[in-house]
Amino acid sequence: MSENSGFHIQTVLILAIFALVFWLIHFFNKRQPFPGWVAVAYSAALAAYIIDSTRTPSTSVGFIFVSTSMFWIFSLAIAKAVYVRCNAAFPNIIVGLILSSAMTAFTVLTFVAPDISIRSVLVSVVAAILLALALPPLWKAGEKVIDGVLFGVIATVAAIFVVRILIVYSLHGLTLTEQSYSQSEYAWIFHFTSGICALGLAVVLLYAAGLDMVWHFHGQSNRDPLTGLLNRRGLKGLFNSSGADDRDRQYIRAVILFDIDHFKRVNDQYGHAAGDKVLQRVAKTASGLCQEQGQVARTGGEEFAILTDWIPLETAQLLAQHMCDSLRFVAHPELAPDHKVTASFGLAVLTDADSLNDAMDRADQALYQAKRNGRNQVALAQAA
Ligand code: GH3
Ligand code: MG
Ligand code: MG
Repeated sequence: MSENSGFHIQTVLILAIFALVFWLIHFFNKRQPFPGWVAVAYSAALAAYIIDSTRTPSTSVGFIFVSTSMFWIFSLAIAKAVYVRCNAAFPNIIVGLILSSAMTAFTVLTFVAPDISIRSVLVSVVAAILLALALPPLWKAGEKVIDGVLFGVIATVAAIFVVRILIVYSLHGLTLTEQSYSQSEYAWIFHFTSGICALGLAVVLLYAAGLDMVWHFHGQSNRDPLTGLLNRRGLKGLFNSSGADDRDRQYIRAVILFDIDHFKRVNDQYGHAAGDKVLQRVAKTASGLCQEQGQVARTGGEEFAILTDWIPLETAQLLAQHMCDSLRFVAHPELAPDHKVTASFGLAVLTDADSLNDAMDRADQALYQAKRNGRNQVALAQAA
């Protein structure tokens, strides 16, 4: 056993634990490919590290080829993870060009003009370039602190990949041979820095995956599962997060509440599943009609609320009227052809002093008035 074997075992364990943790996060939360790609990266790093740290002068070139490929896959999978996390298009053509040139150069430096020193430069530089591909989408995304931290750590690791070989070769010259590699200072520095970089990067990536999970569940708790619309809590969050700066003095904001008319009859006549389909269609229609003018939320069973953006009062009224006129023409194949689904609307203008609840209460009273006046119509609430 070499004196470094303790360090090797530790590094292997750390890589294995991180690979396992990222796989677990991926499988528990399958919708997020980010931890999945990080898991691929750490599995590849584990394989590369095991092969390279157990290498002897008699290790076949096939193994060296595999460990190099795994090292590059590590960088590539980290970059891919960042792209999926940032919703950016992965540069497939650039990656294809880099990999094919790198593989050609690797083959030449192994078989045609063998030179392990130059080859080790190639291996690290290619790994650094592949990793650095993650930087542009992070730079563009950069509004969250975690994007900035990831940018910094990935840039540092990519720089270390290059700087470490420059340091070793500037001290010792290009003197590495296949025979001397496993006992060389280069191999030691390579393994030590790889272990530290992998550990540092994993901690930040784990933090990012944890944040994603929190945002994901937080997002889910703000959404209605049947329609995908915001729920009452989500609407409140939206209202609270719109700051005073968003205010446009020429315009107003309104709350438009609407409630489907005689919805109980839909359930009674066609069943609850048909009722659900109708709700989903109404939700989709309302969202489509709202477009940029406001956000629709499902605030109760068959009750919805729209919080408008800053728009002229007439536009808010037109929006409510247009929605009222349109909903009755939506086709619902689950229902009898002559069964029209209509809704009643109440519109209240938000004042500076209003909480969302204040405006919703007034809109609710107007909605009640619309119901009493015969349904399928819009009523404007009294001024606050
Ligand atoms: P109105 O015109 O006065 O609003 O009459 P309505 O029948 O629409 O009102 P009511 O409050 O009497 O009934 C609402 C119905 O909505 C009762 C309830 O079963 C149904 N409902 C609430 N949530 C859901 C849901 O998620 N799915 C389905 N299918 N039905 C729901
Ligand atoms: Mg109703
Ligand atoms: Mg109701």
